[in-house]
Amino acid sequence: MANSQAKVVSSILERHGYELGRYLGKGAYAIVWEAYFKKWKTNVAVKVLLKEKAETEFLTKFLPREIQVWKSLKHSNLISFYQSIETTNRVYIMLELAPGGEVMDRIRMRGPCDERLAGKWFEQLCQGMAYIHSRGVVHRDLKLENLLLDENENIKISDFGFCKVSATETGSVRSIQLSETYCGSYAYVPPEVLQGTPYNPFLSDVWSMGVILFTMVTGKLPFDDSNLRRLLKQMLRGPIFTNRHRAISPECKELILKILSHVTSRCSVPDLFSHHWMLSFLTERPAEILSGMDALYLPPSKLRQQRPSIVSWGMGRNKGRESAD
Ligand code: AMP
Repeated sequence: MANSQAKVVSSILERHGYELGRYLGKGAYAIVWEAYFKKWKTNVAVKVLLKEKAETEFLTKFLPREIQVWKSLKHSNLISFYQSIETTNRVYIMLELAPGGEVMDRIRMRGPCDERLAGKWFEQLCQGMAYIHSRGVVHRDLKLENLLLDENENIKISDFGFCKVSATETGSVRSIQLSETYCGSYAYVPPEVLQGTPYNPFLSDVWSMGVILFTMVTGKLPFDDSNLRRLLKQMLRGPIFTNRHRAISPECKELILKILSHVTSRCSVPDLFSHHWMLSFLTERPAEILSGMDALYLPPSKLRQQRPSIVSWGMGRNKGRESAD
């Protein structure tokens, strides 16, 4: 960022009680800085979006949704949203700082993780995603670049730019909204998204979690996204474990295969918490959050057959699951 721009950013931040710190990185629309928030005596991350660089749809649809939903989410495995400030030319988003950087960079620098570390990180990803899904929210852009690390190497899910509330509950009637829009990165989306058919976004997030786990333990993405036709073929066939992967346990491989499978046989998030590989790393089964959540993971063919079902899930709502009929 040019010096004059840094000056503008610094003076706006000063006015709101922040001291501009070091540059952290650059995204599609934003530059991210570290800043010191004097009131809390703590360092935070500040995303600075230059409005003129962003597309109208991003500014009018995705950004307001991101801010509204992110604000409402509070969990130890999610980057916390603190505040947003809008000026004529920019939007400033104050976030919890993740001093450990991106998991992707860690894998690029150090190669695949041993299963103990992958197990710890994957369990934390599952805890965060169970919480998000239990609120009826889908992330739709899960990837290693969006998993950040705190000072103790704990996972913090970030970037809610494509998030959406996809399950709503009115009284005791819940409806799940299928998505039709393509969201996310090719390497992380499931085949049903590439095929352009209406898809269950809860199951699509689960697929992305499988791509993340595969990449953590092998150091490579499971599918080659340089050619879309080949990518789809590879996805439908499923990931391949070669001789190079012989050190990975059969339990871990089995879990990956269960996640990266056809939409009708794919694991749900509650299933992940019961899998024997996960059980060896599990710190806590979030029973209340998981209760009744299975209904979020029905494939589109089954959801279409159902009249809006009377179900409740997680977060202290009425527990249990009943059929509408
Ligand atoms: P993004 O705009 O989310 O793609 O982020 C741009 C860069 O800033 C990436 O290198 C991120 O790792 C970094 N970054 C984003 N959010 C944070 C945060 N909360 N803490 C530390 N670094 C961050």
